[in-house]
Amino acid sequence: MDNKALAELLFPDVTETREQTEARFPERQLPEGACVTRIGPSPTGFVHLGNLYNAIIAERIAHQSGGVFYLRIEDTDNKREVEGAVETLINAMDYFGVRFDEGATAEGDNGAYGPYRQRQRRDIYHVFAKWLVEQGLAYPCFMTAEELDAIREQQTAAKENPGIYGRYAEKSRSLTLEEIKQNIAEDKPWVLRYKAEMTDEYIEVKDAVRGAVKMPRNSMDFVLLKSDGIPTYHFAHVVDDHLMHSTHVIRGEEWLSSLPMHVELFGKLGWEQPVYCHTATLMKIDEENGGKRKLSKRKDPELALSYYQQEGISRDVVWEFLLTLLNSNYEEWRLANPGVSYLEFPYTLEKMSISGALVDLDKLRDISKEVICAMQPEKVYDEWYGWCSEYNREFADLLSKYKDRTLAALNVGKGGKKPRKDIETWKQACDFMSFYYDETFTVADDMNEQADEETRKQFFAKYLETYDHADDSQAWFEKVRAITAELGFAVKPKDFKKYPDSYKGSIVHITNMLRIALTGRANAPDIHEVSHVLGEDIVRARLGRWA
Ligand code: GLU
Repeated sequence: MDNKALAELLFPDVTETREQTEARFPERQLPEGACVTRIGPSPTGFVHLGNLYNAIIAERIAHQSGGVFYLRIEDTDNKREVEGAVETLINAMDYFGVRFDEGATAEGDNGAYGPYRQRQRRDIYHVFAKWLVEQGLAYPCFMTAEELDAIREQQTAAKENPGIYGRYAEKSRSLTLEEIKQNIAEDKPWVLRYKAEMTDEYIEVKDAVRGAVKMPRNSMDFVLLKSDGIPTYHFAHVVDDHLMHSTHVIRGEEWLSSLPMHVELFGKLGWEQPVYCHTATLMKIDEENGGKRKLSKRKDPELALSYYQQEGISRDVVWEFLLTLLNSNYEEWRLANPGVSYLEFPYTLEKMSISGALVDLDKLRDISKEVICAMQPEKVYDEWYGWCSEYNREFADLLSKYKDRTLAALNVGKGGKKPRKDIETWKQACDFMSFYYDETFTVADDMNEQADEETRKQFFAKYLETYDHADDSQAWFEKVRAITAELGFAVKPKDFKKYPDSYKGSIVHITNMLRIALTGRANAPDIHEVSHVLGEDIVRARLGRWA
């Protein structure tokens, strides 16, 4: 076979040599040790937690080393592409505070190594495809879907490895230049296949997460270019990560099995392999059988990044949560460094777990309470308001109308040694904090459980009679105790427990009445503090209803 003539026949439009193309993507001028990483998501419309998981690793590795982190859109599979999916992806990454130095953006491309959308790099892949044909390392295959199906059936029946290799590749490999010319003249569709050597050798790759990985060397004639001229992931990955000078490829472990193809291509193209980091699959504990299983798109809403956006889970919380999954020493570091930004954590690939990372929403909620509790009220306000602007407009209006009151409310219960951890998510905050605004205030708990109607009326009348908004917490509580005793309730709860017949109830019932009247619930923050956030008028109005 005249490989040069075949290359010309298949790629008449390619005029650039591989040297010329490579010269357009020069080495990056970066300090010694700086890492270049990327994420290469496919725009399927579904952005999953794994995308963010890998993005955080890649971002940390790049930015901790003074390197570059970029976004490449891997849109080679047009069957999976969904309108607006690139924007969804970019917005999601932005919401979670993932900052790219380079790559695809909502406004187009940013950087010198573009285009950053694979479909736009078609010509670049063709340069290297042509070179592979010239070297006798790739060939066109005209087999039809029916022929491929028949081969697969035969292989399944004979319990052989599926794919095109060895004798299954013979038909296409043995076509003459004349036959190929004829097929092309007849417009027969073809794919470009890699011409593999049949081998029983093994390769060993040092994976930064898993250590040395030993696998059989590739002997598959896998597809490089599909019939529309668009590359497969395998070919595009190798060309792009070489030209864009990625030093580390961080991707899910589902790609581990195709590593031999990538190693083969890097080798044949004479390029240095990046450091591979195959990350653990996200898992959860199955509610039904208690075992570990992969997160499923169908069953587990928490697999979608949109879940965290819609629930209003703070970006900082999601980062903290993922970092605890990503590095086994993160929690220890966090305890030793409270109040320090998670970006200060020295992230290392070596400390990554390789057995599936467990996504536990209870743990996420606990982290969330801690993180929000430690945030300054202004930051809580800004994030919560930002979320409401998108997901709960009415509440956003309340937050801006009552900004000062909200900021004061966010400080309630924060004074002591054990600050309150009431807020978990922005969505739940709209519910929990609703009593601070007359517009959303409702009485949820039952006042009748605390005292009969007559006692209740007496209590509220007396309370309002002696109420002085200027009282400090101690003076206020003295008055509450006095009324408690006067109405025949035990000032000390334990007295009521001991002699239940001697009292109408205890001070707990009294304060519960106050809480329910003020906040709508018996379980609420400190009454004196809440009263001061609400202001005297609201306090009198809410309590007056019961007097
Ligand atoms: N396009 C691949 C995916 O969506 C990316 C794998 C990689 O990062 O190399 O899984």
